[in-house]
Amino acid sequence: MMRTSPVLRNKDTLQAPLNRKNNLTGQASDSNDSPFWEPKWETLSREDLESLQIRRLKKTVARAAQAPFYKEAFKKQKIDPERIRSLDDLRRLPFTTKDDLRQWYPYGFLTVSKDEVVRMHSSSGTTGRPTVVFYTQRDIEAWANLVARCMYMTGVRRSDVFQNMMGYGLFTGGLGFHYGAEKLGCLVIPVGPGNTKRQLFLMREFETTVVHIIPSYALYVAEVCQKEGIDPQNEFKLRIAFIGAEPHSEGIRARIEDFFGIAAFNSYGLSEVNGPGVAFECPYKKGMHIWEDAYIVEIINPETLEPVPEGEEGELVLTTLTREGMPLLRYRTRDLTKFLPGTCPCGRTHRRIDRITGRTDDMLIVKGVNIYPIQIERVLMSLPEVGNNYLIEVHKQETGDELLIKVEVKTEVFQEDMRYLEGLRKKIIHEVREEILVTPKVELVEPNSLPRTQGKAQRVVIVGKQ
Ligand code: AMP
Ligand code: ZN
Repeated sequence: MMRTSPVLRNKDTLQAPLNRKNNLTGQASDSNDSPFWEPKWETLSREDLESLQIRRLKKTVARAAQAPFYKEAFKKQKIDPERIRSLDDLRRLPFTTKDDLRQWYPYGFLTVSKDEVVRMHSSSGTTGRPTVVFYTQRDIEAWANLVARCMYMTGVRRSDVFQNMMGYGLFTGGLGFHYGAEKLGCLVIPVGPGNTKRQLFLMREFETTVVHIIPSYALYVAEVCQKEGIDPQNEFKLRIAFIGAEPHSEGIRARIEDFFGIAAFNSYGLSEVNGPGVAFECPYKKGMHIWEDAYIVEIINPETLEPVPEGEEGELVLTTLTREGMPLLRYRTRDLTKFLPGTCPCGRTHRRIDRITGRTDDMLIVKGVNIYPIQIERVLMSLPEVGNNYLIEVHKQETGDELLIKVEVKTEVFQEDMRYLEGLRKKIIHEVREEILVTPKVELVEPNSLPRTQGKAQRVVIVGKQ
């Protein structure tokens, strides 16, 4: 059946700045080509998308049944993989959890012999056994294609210079984007994170146009620019940043965009189901398209395990549809989000999920109230006096837990008199209390005084007896 792609009605204000012809690579500008990397897949009707999902699901389940974990689970629960023929059938299968991955570590989820595995990655968690994931050659190909699709969607083309400031190695962020960007034909600078002065040198010398970076590190790079007297909007050719790997608020995105004069796109993924390239923002930046030709997406209430009504927040559950070496069925990501209603003006038909607000296990309970760190971040980042970093300390005490928020303020604010600072401190206490319904203690600290990481930021510290 012939299908015409819906037109991408980009308005200038919504689009990333136009692609520059890059004199380093000398590659031709592809400004007239389609805004879709794979129009055939990206714009499928819901009906066609669902029948594709069912076809792929049947293959996936048959394949999963080869893995020791699923072989045993199917046997124990008397599940006949042949009888899983619809999306409703899938919803009757048990969930797969991070604990299952740990218990069947390291090879219990493999459906192929080790000879066919070409790559391993692992989650960046620091506690317990890491969860390891394996890829066949075809998995690497399919993953690179998804990442290329995401990058292309935001306007990245082969003429771009892509500086990958994410960790290489076991973390999927670095190599995942590296392969995607190469597939697209970009000039890739595989620098990884850290050594900020060198990053800035590379950006200037090689006229980097696109970066991939952890948002908290991007704010640190902004501080280094300020300290070094570098004006990125005049001295660099940057136009796009991909930010992800950790929860971050709209306020953090706005700070990155304003300082560097670029468009920053939210990028979501997790190692268990490939890595980056699971969900990504399009030029409209109204939620992230989650690629439904590669994943079946559910959002459930983490307590009742029932699907939540559309628009309500819950835990994201993913079933892989194209993974060969290590398919996962109904994997509970622990990440909290919601489906956004309606269709996206970009023409892509894959549903959109909202910014991830945190993980089910990020939740703090203070004085009986459930609090997510991102709620505090949202308040802090909306205040212009507040700098780019903060730390939440939960002090465990016999009399009940206390919340202490250390907040860096901007340099010019820190130089104000005590009365002014006390007024600001009270304002922060008030605004945070309005949001979380608990009165925190707040300490204003000097700019650049809180610890920074090159990887995912640590926003919460528990102090005292656990
Ligand atoms: P890892 O498997 O170590 O790469 O970590 C994946 C986890 O990082 C996800 O399950 C999320 O909790 C978090 N994460 C990744 N991307 C984002 C994002 N864009 N926004 C919020 N959290 C994210
Ligand atoms: Zn869109």
